Order: sequence, then structure tokens, then C-alpha cells
Amino acid sequence: MSAKWQEQFSGFHRVRKTPEYARSVVRVGDVSFGAGEFIVMAGPCSVESERQLMQTAEAVAAAGAHVLRGGAFKPRSSPYSFQGLGQEGLKLLAKARERTGLAIVTEVMSESDVELVAEYADIMQVGSRNMEHFSLLERLGSCARPVLLKRGMVATLHDLLRSAECLAGAGNANILLCERGIRTFDTVTRNTFDIAAVPLLKSVTHLPVIVDPSHAAGIRDLVPILARAGAVAGADGLLVEVHPEPEKALSDGEQSLTFEQFTAMMRDLEEYVRLAPKRAEFDVVVGGRRA
Ligand code: PEP
Ligand code: MN
Repeated sequence: MSAKWQEQFSGFHRVRKTPEYARSVVRVGDVSFGAGEFIVMAGPCSVESERQLMQTAEAVAAAGAHVLRGGAFKPRSSPYSFQGLGQEGLKLLAKARERTGLAIVTEVMSESDVELVAEYADIMQVGSRNMEHFSLLERLGSCARPVLLKRGMVATLHDLLRSAECLAGAGNANILLCERGIRTFDTVTRNTFDIAAVPLLKSVTHLPVIVDPSHAAGIRDLVPILARAGAVAGADGLLVEVHPEPEKALSDGEQSLTFEQFTAMMRDLEEYVRLAPKRAEFDVVVGGRRA
């Protein structure tokens, strides 16, 4: 790959890849992102009830997931949609962690909730709608938890890395970048999965990169195929929505996998993970030298 397109990222001193610092590993308990293992974070879009969450946590753990996802504070596009269970949802997530041993990733939407969410979460999710919520990023700089930073639905990769640089500058360089699809003129899929973002980000930054095929597709049956594409493109892992009864989900049911689909996806993924590019393929020329 030519070094020319990389120059536009050269001002991001904290998150860009350099020959001296080519890769960072983000650790959460015994889970390591960016160390070679493909990490799967799975669970419902929203925490809805104890029964829904525990069933899902046990099913995804049995299928091999490493981290449980679930929103307690939900950034809904409509004020009339389910807004999440708030702290009650966080407590249920903590209970699911106790039961299954899975680490927890959950979204934080406001700087005034950072302390509360950090009490329960192992990874703090910043959603697409908040990627440029700079006061939130500033506050997350000192939250002592890794941050999963989702690409804004109309954000360029430059915009995404600028937000990552803000977080790192605020004191928190434990960042997972997440490609979750961007808005384009097509309306069949919910978003357009920007698969090139994966190798591109892996080439210009040392941060781990994960993909979210659920929000990219918006269509359940496409999710396992996009997940494989993410693995083959070199993603460090996956964020995926799973629900015991997707047709009854309070949010994002159309894109949520059933337990059976998730289990099949996990089984099938292995051979695609093996096809990921070699690390050297991302070790492209940085500032005239090889990273
Ligand atoms: C989610 O993960 O449920 C979510 C709201 O995602 P995004 O911010 O990517 O829309
Ligand atoms: Mn969702």
C-alpha cells in the first residue's frame, strides 16, 4: 500500500501506528483484544428483563462468546421507542457476569452517567450517535475502563480517529475502534458495511478494530456473512446482537440472531478467522520506514 494516503493520519500522534508502536493490546480480565485471538461480544441490543438477559448470556457463553453486550441506556432515534432500563439494566448485566464469567460491554450516553456505568461495565461503549460527543469523550479519559468507540453513521475514518485521539489525549488510550456501517444512499440495508475500513484502520493505527455486522446490515440473515467478511478482512473481533425471541425484541429485533443462528455462526467463523491477513500485510510504510 502506498504511504501517501496515510499522511492524512500523521497528525494523530497518540493513535497512529509508528515503527516503535505498531500494535496495542486492550485487556479486559483474561480477554485480550489485538493480540491475535478473534474476540466475540454478543448479547441483546437492550437489556429487557432478567429472564431475557440470563438466557442470552448463557447461550452466548456456551457458544464461545467472550464478552456479553447489552444496552441499559439506549440512544433511540425516536423518543417514543423503548429507552432502556437504566441502572436496573446495569444490575442485571452484573448479575449475568457473575453467573457466566463473561465481561460486560454497555453503552454510556452522557458524562453524568460515566461514574455509574463504570461501576458495572468492563468496557464502556460510545455509540454511533455520540462519537463526537467531546465532553463525554473527555470524561471517559479518566474512567479507568477501556472504551469501545463506534464509528458515527456519517463519520469519515479521519473523524473516527480524531475522536480516538481526543480520548487518548484525555488519558485513556485503551480504545477499541468499531466499524458498524455508514449511511449511504442505499436503503435496503440499514447501513453500508465499510469493509475497507478494517484493513485501512489496521494499517494506520495501533488500536484494535472490531466490526458490528448487526447494525451494518439491519437484516438478521446477512449478519453471519458480514461477520465472516470482517474476520477475513482482519478484524480483531465482533460485536453482535442476539435475542431469545428476536420477533419480540424491544429494539433491533430484525437484526438480532436467534441462539441457533449465533451458535452456527460461531462454529462457521473459525475457518474464516484463519484466512485473516498476516500481520505484516498491515505493517505498511509509515513515515518512510516500515512499521
Ligand atoms: C447498539 O450497539 O445497540 C447501538 C445503538 O449501536 P450504534 O451506536 O452503532 O447505532
Ligand atoms: Mn442495537
